[in-house]
Amino acid sequence: MTTRCLICDSSVVLSQEEAQAIALLIGLLDGFLKGIQGESSATPGGAVANPLGHTVSRMIKGISGAVSNWADTQAFIREHRKFHFMGYDRLCLRCGALFDDSPNVESPLDG
Ligand SMILES: [Zn+2]
Repeated sequence: MTTRCLICDSSVVLSQEEAQAIALLIGLLDGFLKGIQGESSATPGGAVANPLGHTVSRMIKGISGAVSNWADTQAFIREHRKFHFMGYDRLCLRCGALFDDSPNVESPLDG
């Protein structure tokens, strides 16, 4: 069942959980990219002696960067929940309406 906006009837409605998942993904990706960014991939000769080892090393640095970025990601999620959702469950991306899930209300189309 698609949740629709109570104001404009748009189906482009984001839940807090979906927004949290997106923010978490962005935060982890940001940390991963910061982690691998520190190391240069090219040597002066243009070739890497051990490509597999080099790739694994970069991945480990990326994962380490994602882990070290965890606190910032959690703070970002808390701020996003507080300032964008302001305690409500859903945010309409079309009109900006905030509203809660109301499981006891049935749509006339459902019955
Ligand atoms: Zn709306």
